[in-house]
Amino acid sequence: MISVFSLKAVRRLFCYNKAMTTSNIDRISNVIRTQDILRRHDFNFKKKFGQNFLTDHNILTKITATAELSEQVNVIEIGPGIGSLTQYLLEEAAEVMAFEIDKTLIPILEETLAPYDNFQLVNADVLKVDMREQIKNFKNPDLPIKVVANLPYYITTPILMHLIESKIPFTEFVVMMQKEVADRIAAKPSTKAYGSLSIAVQYYMEAQVAFTVPRTVFVPAPNVDSAILKMTRREQPLVAVKDEDFFFKTMHSTFVHRRKTLMNNLQSAFGKDKKPQITELLAQSDISPTIRAEALSIPEFARLADALLPLKEGE
Ligand code: SAM
Repeated sequence: MISVFSLKAVRRLFCYNKAMTTSNIDRISNVIRTQDILRRHDFNFKKKFGQNFLTDHNILTKITATAELSEQVNVIEIGPGIGSLTQYLLEEAAEVMAFEIDKTLIPILEETLAPYDNFQLVNADVLKVDMREQIKNFKNPDLPIKVVANLPYYITTPILMHLIESKIPFTEFVVMMQKEVADRIAAKPSTKAYGSLSIAVQYYMEAQVAFTVPRTVFVPAPNVDSAILKMTRREQPLVAVKDEDFFFKTMHSTFVHRRKTLMNNLQSAFGKDKKPQITELLAQSDISPTIRAEALSIPEFARLADALLPLKEGE
């Protein structure tokens, strides 16, 4: 069940003024304030929700600066926690709509973000929301939308793919994730990190690791290093392909066994009996059957998928 809380009335009560900057000591992310909030609400961290809250002013300022917000930009945040990052976003953006799965965080957020009238909270699993419907609830739904979040690490990839595949024209994603996943998404061909995830994202977005984040700035500290990944939507996908579904299916199939050659993986995907046809189609497309998928650039994958399309039609 999805519930939406608007905190407009409360803002008037607190007479919050954007010109008044919150001192670092009063910030939600201040370690002493964070601990006080958690203690007063008797909050217990839930590992299953990937809860690691940010407590560092410099990192939060850097994330917000990387997102390049303004009063002409709406923000979607996934997993506001107790509002540490949200507070910074609210001070820069037109509006922030945040999706939080943990219902025990809702009363906390109602308290910590009470002074802000440009905040909408949705208590829901972000993977289950109809994002197209949700974004209609922005006061000004015509503004560009950026996604800015410290993502729960256990579902980083499903969340990103859910948002990218929604085809909502988010202009940018500035998101914290496990460093290893950020490196995989931003990886270039012929590197160890390059794979189907790099291609699935880079097809739609330009991706770069903005900066890395030490474990010490979270409570509790995670077991892995983190990084901020900045992804900017391309106006058009990086390459034009004849059949997008077939492009992704073919590309994924070539990475199933990373150490095997392209031909081996393609035979596993389309059937051993298709070897002569695959050989001929690869020759026509000028792609060697003996290379590995990790050596192919995205334009080469597009050429490969277009060339192999008769195999789909023969299915
Ligand atoms: N933004 C806060 C911060 O930086 O301090 C908290 C980030 S914490 C890494 C991840 C947050 O995502 C938690 O608040 C967690 O409860 C929430 N979360 C986990 N799974 C979620 C889901 N499927 N949908 C929405 N929120 C989720």
